[in-house]
Amino acid sequence: MTRVLIVGGSDAGISAGLRARELAPGVETTLVIADAYPNFSICGIPYHVSGEIPDWRSLAHRSQGDLAAAGLQLLLEHTAQRIDPAARILTVTDRSGSEQALAYDTLIVATGAIPIRPPIVGLDSLGPAEGVHLLHTMDDAFALTDTLTNRPTERALIVGAGYIGMEMADSLTVRGLSVTVVEALPQVLPTVDPELATLVEAELVAHRVEVVTGTTVTEIRQVGRELVVSGAAGFNRTVDLVLVVVGVRPDAALATAAGAAIGVRGALAVDRHMRTTLPDVFAAGDCVHTHHRLLPEPTYLPLGTTAHKQGRVAGGKCSGTP
Ligand SMILES: Cc1cc2nc3c(=O)[nH]c(=O)nc-3n(C[C@H](O)[C@H](O)[C@H](O)COP(=O)(O)OP(=O)(O)OC[C@H]3O[C@@H](n4cnc5c(N)ncnc54)[C@H](O)[C@@H]3O)c2cc1C
Repeated sequence: MTRVLIVGGSDAGISAGLRARELAPGVETTLVIADAYPNFSICGIPYHVSGEIPDWRSLAHRSQGDLAAAGLQLLLEHTAQRIDPAARILTVTDRSGSEQALAYDTLIVATGAIPIRPPIVGLDSLGPAEGVHLLHTMDDAFALTDTLTNRPTERALIVGAGYIGMEMADSLTVRGLSVTVVEALPQVLPTVDPELATLVEAELVAHRVEVVTGTTVTEIRQVGRELVVSGAAGFNRTVDLVLVVVGVRPDAALATAAGAAIGVRGALAVDRHMRTTLPDVFAAGDCVHTHHRLLPEPTYLPLGTTAHKQGRVAGGKCSGTP
């Protein structure tokens, strides 16, 4: 029986596993997942934080029972440590640190991305206990809702006006906080045309969000129970919560340590069938670069919608069907 091993249990990993089983119900499909939240909607986190989706369990696209019924074996809270491509062995550790060697015929790496920590003084020493948050995983979401529930939190400052910054400005405003968004570039949503960004900014202001563009945050200091955020050109605000959401970088280390080639912006290089340069090793999602229909060269596009489709392609190619 063909053994398909998948590292990662989010958009890319799950769609790969489901597609492999859909095309070849006989393949043995095992997912090694570092956390305890397989197939959760990371994209839905802002709507849980806002209170619009009160129960975090509702963010699961499928239950573990659904995934088992689809033929996916889950190794939760197991972390892939290294790939031996010549022997086709993946070494994993469980929560206690004990190692296990898993053999595969094909491997799909879907390890996702890591949130970028910009060079802000204080960011390394302050964390959720002080009201300073990053947002990328379910555990990050739990830490944020814990702060919002258990600390007096009325004023929030969001560093980064990309789409997650915008969603969180909405989320925290719905939750009743007064929100300031600070963006280093001259407009909110820096990837869209200025005309559209102007409309988005007007909508934010209409909802009483303070928007500060063209300003780099340089320092976060804790003063008593408050956080003082300062930046270029005398920028200074005192808040209760700081959320840093300035983008992600690919989590490619597992595959590159085994010799996989790097593509765009540190992401794994894959061909249009999601093959890495390692034999029988595919990759998909935020850890890979993306072949874009409108662009002549690959780009880096860490989005759930992309991860899901790439996972389907990888899973299809691994299923052993032509
Ligand atoms: C707040 C927020 C809102 C978002 N909203 C949207 C949106 O509206 N639309 C959109 O398209 N995208 C959105 N995104 C982006 C989207 O969530 C990601 O692009 C998508 O989750 C990427 O999926 P992935 O499977 O590649 O990686 P991830 O979701 O990062 O998952 C990586 C998986 O790999 C596992 N893993 C990592 N390393 C190891 C290891 N060594 N061993 C075992 N397991 C490992 C992790 O536990 C996890 O299961 C949002 C992201 C955030 C944070």
